[in-house]
Amino acid sequence: MSLAEAPNIVRNKTIRIKHIRHGYCNSCGDCCNPDFRAARRAFYEASGIGYKLTHGEAGCPDFDSERGKCRDYSKRPMECVRFPRIPIDIMALPQCSYYFLSEITEV
Ligand code: SF4
Ligand code: SF4
Repeated sequence: MSLAEAPNIVRNKTIRIKHIRHGYCNSCGDCCNPDFRAARRAFYEASGIGYKLTHGEAGCPDFDSERGKCRDYSKRPMECVRFPRIPIDIMALPQCSYYFLSEITEV
């Protein structure tokens, strides 16, 4: 069904979509791994919300490429603790154990 064919009950309403994070961090290291940077950038750019990878192109100096993990995970910055914040953050991270559920409310 196209949007134009959607029932009237959906049209002419203003809704708010809230993405609620669930799950836990399994310390897989995918979010810090430069191997996934190009795929992540593609998702951000396609979404229109812009390219916003932590540490940019240089990557994080605390990433241990041999182990594929953070060198000091227990003391990682708050920005890393709060990751992921939105669903697109994890779209190119195959081992991430977080997931999001969406709550839709009419405003
Ligand atoms: S500080 Fe650790 S958790 Fe944060 S981006 Fe760097 S390697 Fe990843
Ligand atoms: S990809 Fe997800 S599960 Fe893996 S270290 Fe990052 S936040 Fe944790």
